[in-house]
Amino acid sequence: MTKQAEVLVIYTGGTIGMVEDSKSGALNPFDFDHLSKQIPEINRFDFKIDSISFDPVIDSSDMSPEIWVQLANIIKDKYESYDGFVILHGSDTMAYTASALSFMLENLSKPIVLTGSQLPIGKIRTDGKENFITSLEIAAAKKDGKAIVPEVSVYFEYQLYRGNRTHKFNAEHFEAFRSANYPTLAQAGVEIKYNTPAIYPSSGQELRVFTNFDPAVTMLTLFPGISRDVVHAVLNIDGLKGVLLETFGSGNAPTYPWFIEEIQNAINNGLVVYNVSQCRGGSVKMGKYETSINLLKAGVISGYDITREAAITKLMYLLGNNYSSSQVKKYLQTSLRGEMTVK
Ligand code: ASP
Repeated sequence: MTKQAEVLVIYTGGTIGMVEDSKSGALNPFDFDHLSKQIPEINRFDFKIDSISFDPVIDSSDMSPEIWVQLANIIKDKYESYDGFVILHGSDTMAYTASALSFMLENLSKPIVLTGSQLPIGKIRTDGKENFITSLEIAAAKKDGKAIVPEVSVYFEYQLYRGNRTHKFNAEHFEAFRSANYPTLAQAGVEIKYNTPAIYPSSGQELRVFTNFDPAVTMLTLFPGISRDVVHAVLNIDGLKGVLLETFGSGNAPTYPWFIEEIQNAINNGLVVYNVSQCRGGSVKMGKYETSINLLKAGVISGYDITREAAITKLMYLLGNNYSSSQVKKYLQTSLRGEMTVK
């Protein structure tokens, strides 16, 4: 007899598990028992569901590399005992956590599905029930004995996305996430239709877990009128190792001599400067316009079509794992977990 599938739910916090304070109307986190009470349907699945709850649960604005490590360690410890994992997480920083987990967990052969909701599970019109129930089904789904989606994904409002390709783009709509540069991994309608060619294949090798992040990074968003003082101050932060330079369009930046000089000095001093576009769709193409040729010459690294969420977590991950500076530069321009399309 084949063993019954088992899914582990890890509840970190966020709206999905929140209840309204009857007096103030404010949303407060509730304990996990609330979720299973609110969704008795989950008891009808033909697979076993276990759960772990963070104590205390957190709003995802309080997420941190330390908590990503905590999550990765839970998955590592429980990896052999479960067929898949569902992480209930606030939507605000879900794309960052999904990206971080994708880098931390190499050679996944089991699904890690992150989900949450815009309305608390206790509300009549909640989107949390469907998100949770379908995530469970995806986490347990197998074909020929193998997981159908063996990667870190985000499920929200009938769509399954590659986690490190997502961003939260709407604070109110149930359809809160987008993956502008990569197709959905599955669509849930009457059936869950998997987009098999888009799903990251399992390498078949043993899981490797990396738990070091270097937080000595920042983002510098360009805008017309940005002053030299601001650029200089950011690029010269004491101990800073990496900067995500949020550029215009296909990776363009001002051509003022002072700007290029600041960037060049920073790179000469050992700073890694990673070019990621402020546009959510499309790719950085350094050298396409005059306005990015100087960046290329100065040694700025192209982030191609990576999201800012994946880019900043990738920087922290690479800088935290003792790679040489040439390896960091090489890997920033290489797709490690399907997070970018290099072309
Ligand atoms: N502020 C909440 C959080 O990110 C919103 C949500 O759960 O969607 O934790």
